[in-house]
Amino acid sequence: MTLEKRYLIEMGDIISIQYGCSKCNSAVSVPIERINQDQIAGIATNVCPHCQTPSGFQPGTEETKVFLYFNNLLKQMPKTMSGRNLKLRLEIKAPE
Ligand SMILES: [Zn+2]
Repeated sequence: MTLEKRYLIEMGDIISIQYGCSKCNSAVSVPIERINQDQIAGIATNVCPHCQTPSGFQPGTEETKVFLYFNNLLKQMPKTMSGRNLKLRLEIKAPE
């Protein structure tokens, strides 16, 4: 017999989004209900406040728009899915 653990996240389980720097590992978490488009745009396009490394996102590019759109969808999904019979879950890799 083989047992397999699956790690699933429901939209209502998401309480905040963490934005982190790959270089210095500093990070900031924003509660999902307080996500603000202008604040997230600043986080996306500014340099890291700790090590000054550019994020890699430029204002107005298609990639930056996708990033902002995704964050906005994450904010809206818990309310959108609340009270529905359909469940949407994201599966993540099992911790090693
Ligand atoms: Zn940094």
